[in-house]
Amino acid sequence: MNKYKNILVTGGAGFIGSHFIRHLLNKYSQIKVVNVDLLTYCGNLENVKDVAKNPRYKFYKADIGDHGAMLNILKKHNVDCVVNFAAESDNNKAVHSPTDFVKTNTFGTAVLLEAVRQCSLQASRQIRFHHISTCEVFGQLSLKSKSKFLETSPYKPRTPYNASKASGDLIVKSYFHTFSLPITISYCANNYGTHQFPEKVIPVFTLKAFKNEPLPVFKSSGNKREWIHVTDHCRAIDLILQKGIIGESYNIGTGLEKTITNIADDILTVLKKPKTLKKVIPDRPGHDSRYLLDSSKIRKLGWRPEIKWPTGLQETVQWYKNNKSWWEPLLSKSNAWSR
Ligand code: NAD
Repeated sequence: MNKYKNILVTGGAGFIGSHFIRHLLNKYSQIKVVNVDLLTYCGNLENVKDVAKNPRYKFYKADIGDHGAMLNILKKHNVDCVVNFAAESDNNKAVHSPTDFVKTNTFGTAVLLEAVRQCSLQASRQIRFHHISTCEVFGQLSLKSKSKFLETSPYKPRTPYNASKASGDLIVKSYFHTFSLPITISYCANNYGTHQFPEKVIPVFTLKAFKNEPLPVFKSSGNKREWIHVTDHCRAIDLILQKGIIGESYNIGTGLEKTITNIADDILTVLKKPKTLKKVIPDRPGHDSRYLLDSSKIRKLGWRPEIKWPTGLQETVQWYKNNKSWWEPLLSKSNAWSR
């Protein structure tokens, strides 16, 4: 049983949001899901093609920053829970067009929250708001640090993407303290899995390796990221919706750290290609050295990651191999292919 009946997922044509929609519709037979997505360069209805004809699913092409559209959708579908994935999500793109990030991740989040608050007032019912944030709002750890980020760690964002996400988070928190809006926030580690837009490191490395092109490894190739399979992330969000405490935040991480060189080598191993198929490229400005989350709080709610890296990576690479028709049309939209 799900606590909620009519769930609005924003950014549901993107990578994680589309997996979350699939998770909800497969797991709960009673709920309805409304997907709102602006279909920016990385929003792709192919990601939700398998659920498009499900009578319990409805899609709207709309901007979370459009107050009137959000209010109408919330009212029309009697929405009792919103999960906000919609975002500009690529750190590389944020270096070139930072204001796009503030527009959606900060202002868009604020407009969506205000629509939720007004709908709650007009309909005299509570609407749960779960906001998807990122480990990156906490800044960076040094490579040798023994520390991990806690949910209570101070925000120290260093890039326009991280800063715009951090700003959005603060507005979400303000709606809890000021208006008693029932919010929760989750901070997740780096996701991988199928349907990830080919601007992020794992699809870029995989597709370059298919073509026998060198994998572009940042100069600071020892920088580490914590990795989680997207379906483990989706199960964690679901658990927070069911058992999370209103007003609280939850870290979602696995503890599995990989350097950029490790990722390149693991993909080359899966594809049986030489480890020499790599080239060093300059660091991105503001390239953080490391993020690592302390996820004991969500583990106390009963969550554990289930997908092991070797299996998850192998399946992901295989999916890209089998789904050229999905990724090939996207390459011209991805900045990563000029690197
Ligand atoms: P994505 O870029 O694949 O998807 C984002 C989706 O949001 C796209 O479908 C896009 O069309 C849509 N969108 C963008 N602007 C919009 C707007 N103004 N209104 C409505 N829709 C809009 O990103 P993702 O990797 O699936 O990330 C989803 C969320 O998870 C983001 O909030 C991101 O910050 C967060 N997150 C991602 C990761 C990761 O590793 N990918 C890790 C932690 C947190």
